[in-house]
Amino acid sequence: MKKKLIAGNWKMNGSLAANEALVKALLAGLATPACQVALCVPSIYLGQLQTLVAGSAIEMGAQDLSAHEAGAFTGETSAAMLREFGVRYCLVGHSERRQYHFETDALVAAKAQRALAGGITPIVCVGETLAEREAGKTEEVVKRQLAAVIHANGHCISEIVVAYEPVWAIGTGKTASTEQAQQVHAVLRAQLHAASEHADRIHILYGGSMNAANAAQLLAQPDIDGGLVGGASLKAPDFLSIIASAR
Ligand code: PEP
Repeated sequence: MKKKLIAGNWKMNGSLAANEALVKALLAGLATPACQVALCVPSIYLGQLQTLVAGSAIEMGAQDLSAHEAGAFTGETSAAMLREFGVRYCLVGHSERRQYHFETDALVAAKAQRALAGGITPIVCVGETLAEREAGKTEEVVKRQLAAVIHANGHCISEIVVAYEPVWAIGTGKTASTEQAQQVHAVLRAQLHAASEHADRIHILYGGSMNAANAAQLLAQPDIDGGLVGGASLKAPDFLSIIASAR
């Protein structure tokens, strides 16, 4: 059985001093985790993180990458640049990027493709808004979002990570119930199985107000292979407790 994966998403938070204190506290409490652990941090802190986590169980993640290889794309960061800093994972299509930066399914798919070509595992985020859930469109939305990535990436699809993040649960303190989360994860799992004979190896993470109190129950679901954790990843005791529940 594959190990679970717990990935923290710091979003646009941190400072040199705060990052150092947080990572040191995590390393002090981590010992040998039963799961895989990654931190997706603002790109400007990747160099600092690389030094802090060297030789530890914490793997490095970024929060976005360019869909282009190189060139005149001011402000963007390429897959090759991320690789140079030891980045293993990169979030792609986080709902905040879809919402505030107008990222389309096609762009998200292109970014996933660029990550894979550059040796980085994309953590492809999908999820419905509250209005879409209330309109009974949850399955349709997440399947459409994932289908774009499957279509663009063909047989490489077994190399991605998927994160189901209901938009209404991100940063709101509202978590999907274990039943709601498991139901969507099962749909995504079936879609991945139809696309690849190696779909078993794909992690499907749950994200959306995962915290120390609800993690164990969510992570016990058969199709929940880990968590993408925002707010709670900024507090060492909470993040460590989530990691401890992932076995
Ligand atoms: C996220 O940013 O991906 C996330 C799930 O945030 P939070 O845990 O704060 O809801």
